Amino acid sequence: MVQVSNLALTYQSAEGEIEAIRDLSFSVREGEFVSVIGPSGCGKSTLLSMIAGLLPPTAGEIRFAGNGSIGYMLQKDSLFPWRTIRRNLLLGAEIRGENGREAAQYADTLLQTYGLWEFRDRFPGQLSGGMRQRAALIRTLVTRPQLLLLDEAFSALDYQTRLAVADDIYAIIRREGKTAIMVTHDIAEAVSLSDRVIVLTRRPAVVKSVYDITFAAGRGSPLQCREEPEFRGYFNQIWRDIDVHL
Ligand code: ADP
Ligand code: MG
Repeated sequence: MVQVSNLALTYQSAEGEIEAIRDLSFSVREGEFVSVIGPSGCGKSTLLSMIAGLLPPTAGEIRFAGNGSIGYMLQKDSLFPWRTIRRNLLLGAEIRGENGREAAQYADTLLQTYGLWEFRDRFPGQLSGGMRQRAALIRTLVTRPQLLLLDEAFSALDYQTRLAVADDIYAIIRREGKTAIMVTHDIAEAVSLSDRVIVLTRRPAVVKSVYDITFAAGRGSPLQCREEPEFRGYFNQIWRDIDVHL
């Protein structure tokens, strides 16, 4: 679905060059949920920006199977506070000047399927953080992306909420059959949500290691995965791989 080959990015700044990503290669299969994990500042957001086509790479290339349509989900839900939930969902179609009817029908289906129908005419400020993140995901789904990119999508939430929201968002992504690439610095989050975890080195980022995450009992929800006997082993291996300097 996505093939990243020998990707590199060097920022030019007033203080000189910052080599964020040196030589990154990996691929993601259709329907897979892949996490990219690494220490803060190692180039994770930079990588997603390049995959999203917002930032041209210095070297290397990114190839997509299919139409390459992408949905981007950020740490902040970035819903517009002055628009109702439903009108937030329709914003993308509005901006692209599409006939809104098809988008509106799909948005309404998603609102009903995922428990937001009764909140459709509320404003984001009237919803909980978890509900807002769900609305933000649904807003990206309305555009029917083949690939979802999640950049630390849960890290603005408090611990209890983020566990619940991760479960919620994961269930929706799986049910919709989407391919997803998530970047995070949270090892437990990466292991509990992903089919595969790609560990990056410190800046300039290259791939340090790759783990296929499997559980003998099968994959349940992210919360259930945290209870599996294999969980701690994955956690510890990745912990050792990530170069944390105090
Ligand atoms: P992460 O998301 O892993 O925390 P980023 O991709 O945001 O890391 O940043 C990687 C490195 O590139 C950091 O050292 C950061 O300071 C630097 N960086 C990010 N954006 C820019 C920019 N626009 N110009 C210069 N340097 C940048
Ligand atoms: Mg980042």
